[in-house]
Amino acid sequence: MNDNVLNDCLQDLYEQAPCGYVFSLPDGTLVRVNQTFLIWTGYSRAELLSRRFQELLTVAGKMFFENQYAPLLRMQGAVQEVTFDIVRRDGSRLPVLMNSVLRVDATGSPILVASTIFRAVERRAYEQELLLARTRAEHLAEVVTASSDAIVTCARDGSVRRWNLSAERLFGYTPATFPTLTLRDLLPFEGAAGYERTMRPLWQGEPVHVDTFGVRNDGKRIDVSVGVTPHTDELGAVSSLSAIISDISERRAIERLQQEFLAMASHELRTPLVAIRGYAQLMQRRKAYNEQSLETIVAQTRQLAGLIDDLLLASQIEANRFELRKGELDLVAVARRAATTSVLSDDCDIRVDVPDDPVVILADRQRIEQVFANLLTNAVKYSPDGGTVEVSISKSNGVARVRIRDQGIGIREVDIPHLFERFYRAPDVAQETKGAGLGLYITQRIVEDHGGRVDVESEIGQGSTFTVTLPAAE
Ligand code: ADP
Repeated sequence: MNDNVLNDCLQDLYEQAPCGYVFSLPDGTLVRVNQTFLIWTGYSRAELLSRRFQELLTVAGKMFFENQYAPLLRMQGAVQEVTFDIVRRDGSRLPVLMNSVLRVDATGSPILVASTIFRAVERRAYEQELLLARTRAEHLAEVVTASSDAIVTCARDGSVRRWNLSAERLFGYTPATFPTLTLRDLLPFEGAAGYERTMRPLWQGEPVHVDTFGVRNDGKRIDVSVGVTPHTDELGAVSSLSAIISDISERRAIERLQQEFLAMASHELRTPLVAIRGYAQLMQRRKAYNEQSLETIVAQTRQLAGLIDDLLLASQIEANRFELRKGELDLVAVARRAATTSVLSDDCDIRVDVPDDPVVILADRQRIEQVFANLLTNAVKYSPDGGTVEVSISKSNGVARVRIRDQGIGIREVDIPHLFERFYRAPDVAQETKGAGLGLYITQRIVEDHGGRVDVESEIGQGSTFTVTLPAAE
């Protein structure tokens, strides 16, 4: 082949190459550039050939070129893949990737720098996208870590791959055991068939939402609400699953409580009504006034009204619509009156031990009277007939103390922490005595809203002592 043709080809290749070729003196002065570089930068050859390469860079780029790039090139003889932003003739920027080689003479002195420059527009965009994706992934990871719901990711066969802290807390497994588990260990769905049936929509790419139960490391069951999402690979096949598992045991407990309440309320309200109707019908049939029937009717009506009041008050407490109208109140006077007017005072001997001087607190009279009534009613209700109930009042160090002591059946230690819960009744007495399990719940709330507290001491067969402490008025 003719040498001239080859030279022309080489020249074309040089000028039209898909990269910029730039030759400069060791101080950066440009001595030769190819056509591609001119097109990219928008300058004419004449405009470039007296300038120094670093003058084409941004301020930060120029500093980097002079302080890092050039010394490195002198030291190593070559520098590869460094990114710069070239400022084009029209002021816009061109991200580039630069490789340089230093030519030296026989004495080792630098004479020429040959650089190859690649456009880095796509690469820069790609890098930015990568950065963005990484930030998004990091944010998502933070959400997963901080989520109060348990989040577990599994392979298609259910083996656990990743999990968050809430999953460790909810299921009680250590990080070492999680990788040995499958989703079915955590959510058994009533056996293999149940699991397969529940998960079936996932294999068609559909998410699954279900309320079920989970099993903890200690074997305990927990009520959970689960959302499982399938993840697909490039070919659209399900490759992994993510399960978000929320603990709904509290919600379930409230639902159970509501059901129990409905059963209790209808029973408690119905019993006095049945008695009232029975005695009223008796008088109607006999067409005769009967003192005893009327007494029962009045007593049952009173009980019914009391229960309705308690239910209303409990619902006000629940809805936080419970208000106090405070004024000065003498606890000694309240105790005396409560002991004499107690409905059940006939069944027990109620003794009052109070100081001669008033013990004054700042309180809502009606509510504090209710506290006395509730505690006295319980003391009598849970004592054998003919027992003694003592009410005493004292004051010391700015604190007023009310103690109601009975010699009744006492309370088991296991029941004590639950006494003040709504609707709680000790199982051993629940069948034998009437009650809605609201008295102590209301009592504690009233006392605490007055800045006080209620304490219990009790011994089975010996009796119980309820102590109410309240801040005394100045
Ligand atoms: P109720 O008396 O209507 O059941 P309370 O809230 O007043 O509801 O009391 C809750 C439970 O605490 C009772 O069911 C009973 O088991 C227990 N209890 C309360 N006071 C006494 C007491 N003085 N002696 C023994 N048990 C008591």
